[in-house]
Amino acid sequence: MNITEIKKLDKERIVPTYARYDMVAEKGAGACCWSKEGKKYIDFTAGIGVNCLGFCDRGWIEAVTEQLGKLQHVSNLFYTEPQVKVAEMLTERSGMAKVFFGNSGAEANEAAIKTARKYGFMKKGEKAYKIITLENSFHGRTMAAITATGQEHYHKFFTPFLEGFEYCPANDGEAMERLADENTCAIMMEMVQGEGGVVPLEAEFVKKAEKICREKGILLIADEVQTGIGRTGKLFAYEHFGIQPDIVTFAKGIGGGLPIGGALFGEKCCDTLQPGDHGTTYGGNPVACAGAVEVLKRMDGAFLAEVEKKGSYIKEKLQAIPKVKKVTGMGMMLGVEIEGKKAADAVAESLEKGLMILTAKDRVRLLPPLTITFEEIDEGIEILKSVLK
Ligand SMILES: *Cc1c(COP(=O)(O)O)cnc(C)c1O
Repeated sequence: MNITEIKKLDKERIVPTYARYDMVAEKGAGACCWSKEGKKYIDFTAGIGVNCLGFCDRGWIEAVTEQLGKLQHVSNLFYTEPQVKVAEMLTERSGMAKVFFGNSGAEANEAAIKTARKYGFMKKGEKAYKIITLENSFHGRTMAAITATGQEHYHKFFTPFLEGFEYCPANDGEAMERLADENTCAIMMEMVQGEGGVVPLEAEFVKKAEKICREKGILLIADEVQTGIGRTGKLFAYEHFGIQPDIVTFAKGIGGGLPIGGALFGEKCCDTLQPGDHGTTYGGNPVACAGAVEVLKRMDGAFLAEVEKKGSYIKEKLQAIPKVKKVTGMGMMLGVEIEGKKAADAVAESLEKGLMILTAKDRVRLLPPLTITFEEIDEGIEILKSVLK
């Protein structure tokens, strides 16, 4: 098929839930992507924070293809080795007790929400189903996840939404104190609000939320779907804040490009879900898990220190661009406030010049593959600079 045919078929036959950028991607290597026309792009998106090892990493391909040739799927009715390996690696490194595997971020949050509700029911009674999330948050697209998402614009058309969600302004500890009551089973938050504009929470507020949870027997859920798996320079972003959540959800980066996500549970709620309470046919698929084992193996202390280093390097370079007003975020999850141009236009013009970037609200958002080289960073920043001139 040629480019025109692909675009035409897409328009005719695919539900238009996405306004696509004008590029047909064909192949990639590391932080470079080539379009079907053969044009080369520097990738500052990592497939929205998914391809943490870049495109077609050798070790990852070997791990995945080896598993593919052995057993591609068997369902959760049976044991498999890749699944328990990922479980062991994740729990040992996070200090959490057990994990549930799903296939995406929204599903990870569904598992967390269902667990919190059952936990509340068992501990405090059937009225203890309230979950507090933050204004400007994003938690995914299923009915529960859009209800949890604290942005009005997601709360249209699909009524009725779930009962029992309340929204607290980010960084308002007093409001949180008022909202959290005897019927609250969980507080859920992203350490850095990703889709909301790459806005890190204040440490004092995160600590306060943890304290409220401990005092009132409430579960603290960290949605680490975007921030997790090395993105901010730690395996999970909550480590920057010196807290220990009761539930940690993850997805995007973990599979290195294959669909896998899940929720980690601490001692308090790791056995809340019992046989029959929850499940998914694909969850913890052995091929996706083989990819995740490789991702976690590679993400050692030295790797994470490099992420911090590259993140600071990008931040510094961005701050030196005159039209850049502000750079937010942590590690290699960065938001860029620009002037003189809309973020969406900056994305389109960058693409034209060979750089893939993202938006988050009115900001430019950068989520480069964590393995990107300093040369590739320089090349990408030069393009962004010329676009913002
Ligand atoms: C992307 C994202 C989700 C949803 O993940 P999907 O895999 O698209 O379902 C949930 N929470 C956060 C913080 C995210 O960034």
